Amino acid sequence: MAVGCRQPPREFGPPSLGCHRSSSPIYFLSLSPPPSIESLYFFFFFFFFFKEIDQMGIRRLQGEWFLLLLLLLLCFVGCCHSEQAPNYTFVKQATEAPAVSYYDYIIVGGGTAGCPLAATLSRTSDVLLLERGGSPYGNKNISNLAFFADTLADVSPTSPSQRFVSEDGVFNARARVLGGGSCLNAGFYTRAGADYIRGAGWDATLVEESYRWVEKVVAFEPPVRQWQSAVRDGLLEVGITPYNGFTYDHLYGTKVGGTIFDRNGYRHTAADLLAYADPARLTVLLRATAERIVWRGDGKGRRGRPAAQGVVFVDSAGRRRQAYLRKGKGSEVIVAAGAMGSPQLLMLSGVGPREGLERLGIGVVAERDMVGKGMADNPMNAIFVPSPAPVEVSLIQVVGITRFGTYIEAASGQYFGSPSNSGGDGDAARPPAKNFGIFSPQTGQLSTVPPKQRTQEALDRAARAMARLDPAAFQGGFILEKIVGPVSRGHLELRTRDPHDNPSVTFNYFQDPIDLRRCVDGIKTIEKVIQSKAFDRFRYPDISIQALANMTARFPVNLLPRHDNDSRSPEQFCRDTVMTIWHYHGGCQVGRVVDGDYRVLGVDALRVIDGSTFNFSPGTNPQATVMMLGRYMGVKILEERLRATEED
Ligand SMILES: Cc1cc2nc3c(=O)[nH]c(=O)nc-3n(C[C@H](O)[C@H](O)[C@H](O)COP(=O)(O)OP(=O)(O)OC[C@H]3O[C@@H](n4cnc5c(N)ncnc54)[C@H](O)[C@@H]3O)c2cc1C
Repeated sequence: MAVGCRQPPREFGPPSLGCHRSSSPIYFLSLSPPPSIESLYFFFFFFFFFKEIDQMGIRRLQGEWFLLLLLLLLCFVGCCHSEQAPNYTFVKQATEAPAVSYYDYIIVGGGTAGCPLAATLSRTSDVLLLERGGSPYGNKNISNLAFFADTLADVSPTSPSQRFVSEDGVFNARARVLGGGSCLNAGFYTRAGADYIRGAGWDATLVEESYRWVEKVVAFEPPVRQWQSAVRDGLLEVGITPYNGFTYDHLYGTKVGGTIFDRNGYRHTAADLLAYADPARLTVLLRATAERIVWRGDGKGRRGRPAAQGVVFVDSAGRRRQAYLRKGKGSEVIVAAGAMGSPQLLMLSGVGPREGLERLGIGVVAERDMVGKGMADNPMNAIFVPSPAPVEVSLIQVVGITRFGTYIEAASGQYFGSPSNSGGDGDAARPPAKNFGIFSPQTGQLSTVPPKQRTQEALDRAARAMARLDPAAFQGGFILEKIVGPVSRGHLELRTRDPHDNPSVTFNYFQDPIDLRRCVDGIKTIEKVIQSKAFDRFRYPDISIQALANMTARFPVNLLPRHDNDSRSPEQFCRDTVMTIWHYHGGCQVGRVVDGDYRVLGVDALRVIDGSTFNFSPGTNPQATVMMLGRYMGVKILEERLRATEED
């Protein structure tokens, strides 16, 4: 761990803020690494796009001054970004761990739910947190808003982001880093609605306290600049009212939500919540991949059912180690490995549908047909709006919460999230690579560039050609929609017995007509926002809505074939241009795999606490509720333990 200046607190309260280390000026001076596959893809997309703009006879932006201004802005973002590396004495590499160790709680997955859960449990118990990825601290691609896309574009074996493609043909990503998805995401922070909290059967007072506990450390008010303001005003103009101002609350109308990026564009993640932990009682092991849960010798616990007893994990050198639960009431293994990782680990441990386990030669410990079922991913569809006026670099800040089951959000920028930095160090000194950051991760390069043609020479050629393109091609934003729910459901199965491999997942986007109707209503609303007065400045008047839709439909964001009527049929547009907003959930749902206290049905001493337990995605964006749930269940479990001790 990097030596830092923030000391974990001794008390149960929020951590104190530490000093800030600024990036060195040398940060801006190193050379570009070879261009990535993403660059190649963007060449193809933007070459086409720019030609299209030219053909429409749009005046090119000549202003060198603008480019200069933008570079200054990016330098400013880079310079101001402050690194806070906490002094977590309890974080170690798994290679340093003993071959066998014992704890009160073993948590698998140091992600968005796992970190707040571990921090809370450690206040009274000895806790081991196993995370398969590395530390987020010191990784500028994670910390800095301007490099959002770089992490997602990094497909190296130790990248904080592990790419997968669902069987639907949609590119997606899962976290592999301490802090989990909160290290990769677009940062939007917003709570679930009161109905959602009631429906989940949660205690509203503890929910409120838990959200606040999280917000003290990771949530901020974003600086809403011109482009995001235009989206906000456009939403109000088309009737997504009332205006609710800046709030974390889930309310119908238009609002500015929170963000985990602070005023300097520096990301705060679930890993920052570990500052709440008792450092003497928490052990966090990095690059520790859980292979399987270990069951009691006879496969039976106190109640004659299988009972979890520990976890076998493998370190980065490939060595296996074992961690066991201490004897005593209340000790548990808690899986918080996310919507891909949790059902995967349960199945690798013999808990799942018999047929799928036996196919891979995994002994069945508990036949649970619903493990891996109910997988859902809220489809995201967007329209790209090239802008004649400069736009700020922004991720999600504003949301329109409609009454017809669609959330409208937006992102903008030019040259941000540059995949030229995909070496992992987010070096702002490099000349900006021209691309559209937020859509880099699902670039679709696999569909446009056959593997054999992805040579270094081809990449270099593409990068040089891209550098010659007019800046106008890269200036603008996306207005996007996410549908509520969704209603359509899919499933997850193991492909192999290797825990490092992605399982196979199918989301069945738009299988249910309700989802498709919501998407169509959302697209129609986006079109109105683009045509609103508020948006006049940020749109070329002579590009029709149909032309914008056409342009967007040719953006190869997924592996799906396109149709001629994409810009005329919103239904076809929704289906053909479907992307993920990365809010996938399910696989260990409450009522199907876990009970209301998140205990795995049919076995003992095992819970699942993370996004895999959701039946629907909470709020407009889930991370606030995932972090809240980690804290909330931590408090509940400690209360249970206390009660059990008092009864003894
Ligand atoms: C690119 C992107 C953009 C997003 N944008 C937003 C946004 O703007 N706002 C928002 O609210 N939400 C956003 N989300 C969604 C949100 O971040 C996720 O829903 C949330 O992080 C999921 O939390 P989790 O705890 O369920 O899983 P994760 O945070 O993924 O945690 C699971 C952890 O378990 C670890 N793990 C898995 N398997 C094992 C194993 N076998 N052994 C050890 N460790 C293991 C993983 O490495 C990971 O760290 C986004 C997500 C992504 C990927």
